[in-house]
Amino acid sequence: MDFSFTEEQQMLKASVRNFLEKEIAPVVDEHEKSGPLTKAETVAFIKQLLPFGYLTGFLPEKYGGSQLEAKTNGILVEDLSRVWASLAGTIVIAAGFLWGLSEAGSQDQKQKLLPLGTSGEYIGCLAITEPNAGSDVSSLETTANLDGDNYIINGTKMWISNGSIADAAFVLATTDKSLGPLGLSFFLVERNTSPFQARELHKLGMRCFPTAELSFDDCKVPKTNLLDPGAGYKRTMAFFDVSRAMVGAMCTGIAQAAIDASIKYAQDRTQFGQPIGSFQMIQEMLVDMVAETEAGRLLSFRALDLIDKGQKSRWQSSLAKSYATEAAVRTTSKAIQIHGAMGLSDEYPVERYFRDARTMTIPEGTTQIQKLIVGRDILGIRAFLV
Ligand SMILES: Cc1cc2nc3c(=O)[nH]c(=O)nc-3n(C[C@H](O)[C@H](O)[C@H](O)COP(=O)(O)OP(=O)(O)OC[C@H]3O[C@@H](n4cnc5c(N)ncnc54)[C@H](O)[C@@H]3O)c2cc1C
Repeated sequence: MDFSFTEEQQMLKASVRNFLEKEIAPVVDEHEKSGPLTKAETVAFIKQLLPFGYLTGFLPEKYGGSQLEAKTNGILVEDLSRVWASLAGTIVIAAGFLWGLSEAGSQDQKQKLLPLGTSGEYIGCLAITEPNAGSDVSSLETTANLDGDNYIINGTKMWISNGSIADAAFVLATTDKSLGPLGLSFFLVERNTSPFQARELHKLGMRCFPTAELSFDDCKVPKTNLLDPGAGYKRTMAFFDVSRAMVGAMCTGIAQAAIDASIKYAQDRTQFGQPIGSFQMIQEMLVDMVAETEAGRLLSFRALDLIDKGQKSRWQSSLAKSYATEAAVRTTSKAIQIHGAMGLSDEYPVERYFRDARTMTIPEGTTQIQKLIVGRDILGIRAFLV
């Protein structure tokens, strides 16, 4: 099994890391203390990062994308998450929207929206989760009823990343409840012509990453905005196969930041007349942090490598997501321990790394759901029907 990085990928990693350290890292703390980024702030950051392939990395060149390997996208997201996981979250979701549009949009929709999207000025979101439908996507209640040349969408979506700043949403809704998951379809809802309400939701970590409740009250959408009828559930699962591996890479980046900060602190901080890094129990914590982070990285990039090879990556992506997110929680918690009381203070970044890592065990399917996916594929026995 060889998925080592090419020389080009190593050079990209070095140049992106250098840029992020110089241009982005100095402003992160200030933003994280003031909450979700505004649309204008988000666009400004995205424009700085576009030349490296952020946002458009999964998009084919014919649509103005940079068409990078999945592994290269993983490198980009790991390094951005090492500096600022919130911004990485926003970009992963916005990129997912553009990719979805390129896969399922009509010619007209692609022609109109992809140039705006690739400029970084048009931000999308994916609205699946609802108040009564979280892990069980198939039970969602949002309806879309045909009325002449339009669909009328009614329902509430919860925890929608980028929701408050989004120009458009892919909304998963049922056109026929009796069909169960086969009645689910995505609708392209453009906010300027089909307005919907957004209420920002405060959360423990990833504080600059907007997450909102979206309300669709008789929201009128042209019937041409129904994408790939009946394929909504299948498309959601196909998206997760990629996004879960990317979340694994994100959490590897957060954990790496915690390791880097802890090594520095263990070298600088002295107690009993010697650096705390000389104590064996501190060294043991650091070695455990490195081991778990390396394992999460290998699982994530193995899944991304399968995607590059056009092979199935379902359980491998789920394993990467569940392992790397939970490992990042343990690693960032140890980073706090190594920093002592300072680890709890917002004068040091490790409390943010912990909050951010802790936040990521829930989206894109919880740890428990990922384990049930792996269990299903290795046992051939389903814990639930869909
Ligand atoms: C930061 C963040 C960003 C998000 N972004 C988006 C987004 O962009 N778009 C979107 O649509 N959604 C988004 N979500 C929502 C996310 O996908 C859901 O929160 C997630 O799927 C879990 O659903 P839930 O919160 O309703 O928990 P529930 O499904 O109610 O689960 C509660 C608990 O029960 C457990 N559980 C449930 N079923 C089982 C089972 N069969 N076996 C064992 N345990 C089980 C879960 O693991 C969990 O521990 C986001 C969430 C967060 C936190």
